[in-house]
Amino acid sequence: KEIIIKKQKLYKIHLDSARYFFNALFQNKNEGYKYLINRGLNDKTIKYFGLGYAYSNWDDLTKYLLSKGYKESELLESGLVLEKKDKSGYIDRFRSRIIFPIFDVRGNVIGFGGRVLGNLLPKYLNSPETIIFNKRYNLYGLNFAKKYIEDETLIIVEGYMDLIGLFQFGIKNVVASLGTALTKEQGKLIKRYAKKVIMAYDSDEAGTKATLKGMNILNEIGLDVKILRLDEAKDPDEYIRKKGVDLFKQHLNESVSFVQFKIDILKKDYNLNNVQEKLDFTKKVSQILKQIKSPIEVEHYANKISKETGISVNAIVNEVYGKYSNLR
Ligand code: ATP
Ligand code: MN
Ligand code: MN
Ligand code: MN
Repeated sequence: KEIIIKKQKLYKIHLDSARYFFNALFQNKNEGYKYLINRGLNDKTIKYFGLGYAYSNWDDLTKYLLSKGYKESELLESGLVLEKKDKSGYIDRFRSRIIFPIFDVRGNVIGFGGRVLGNLLPKYLNSPETIIFNKRYNLYGLNFAKKYIEDETLIIVEGYMDLIGLFQFGIKNVVASLGTALTKEQGKLIKRYAKKVIMAYDSDEAGTKATLKGMNILNEIGLDVKILRLDEAKDPDEYIRKKGVDLFKQHLNESVSFVQFKIDILKKDYNLNNVQEKLDFTKKVSQILKQIKSPIEVEHYANKISKETGISVNAIVNEVYGKYSNLR
C-alpha cells in the first residue's frame, strides 16, 4: 500500500515537471523551441509529445517543485533532483536540454530524456531507474503507437527523434527502444500489441549489431521479425527528411526477413568469384538456414543461394539437414 502511494506521488511529480518543461519551451519560444523547429518539427508535434526545455539554471525545477509543496525526499526519489556533493543544497538533473517526457503504456509520465542543443557530450541524458521507471520494461511511444497499429505490425526505432519524425510524416505505429539494446521484456510488451515487428535501427555499426541481437530476442519470443535497411541515411529520422515519406514506405515494404538480413551481412565478407570463399560462404549460409523450422522456407533461401553460387539446391539442403540424416 505504502508503495502505491509513493508511486502516485512520483507520477504527480513527473506530470508537474513535464508541464513545467513544456511551458518553458512553448510559451517562451526560446532556443530549445528554435532547435526543434530547425529540426523540422511543427507546433502540433511538439504539443502532441509534450516536448519541453530545461534552462541552464542550476535549480529552476527544484525550486518550482518545492514551491508546489513536494518534500525534498520525494524530489530525490524522483531522480529529477540531485543533492549537491557538499550537501549544501539541491540541483536539477536536467539543465540546458530539450526534454522528452517518457510515458508508460497508460500515458503516465515516468521519466525524461534530455538532449543537448549542440554537440556536447553526453548527447542524451535519461532519468535514472526509479520505482516508476524501469527501462527494461518500457518502450518510448507505445502509449501513442498502440492506437495506430496497422497490419498487426509495430516498427522499432532507436531514438526519440526517429519516432517523432516518422510520426509527423504520418507513420505512427512506431516505438523506440531508447538506445540500442532491446530487452526480452520489451519484446514481450510488443507482443501484447502486435504480431509482427520491423526493426529500423541506425545504419551504423552499433545499430547493425543491435539489430542482430534484437531480432534474435524478438524471434525467440515468437514475433515475425523483419529488418528495414536505410543505407542512404544514418537513421530513419534523417532518411524521411532527406528522401520523403513515399520512399520510406517503399523501403518498409521491401524490409527483409531476419534470415535474409543475416545472409546479407555475411555476404559482405566473401568474394563469391573466389572458389574457396564461395564454398565457405555457402557452408556458413547453411548454418544460418539450420535455424529455420519450415522446410519450405529453407528451400526458398537455398534456391536463392543456389542461383548466386551455382551450387545445387539439393546440395545446400543436404548441408542444412546433415548429409546422413533421415530428417528429410
Ligand atoms: P539525434 O537525432 O538527436 O542526434 P538520435 O536518436 O539519432 O538523436 P543516437 O545517438 O542515434 O541519437 O541515439 C539513439 C537513442 O539512444 C537516443 O534517442 C537516446 O534515446 C539513446 N541514447 C543515445 N545516447 C545516449 C546516452 N549517452 N545516454 C543514454 N541514452 C542515449
Ligand atoms: Mn546511433
Ligand atoms: Mn537522429
Ligand atoms: Mn540515431
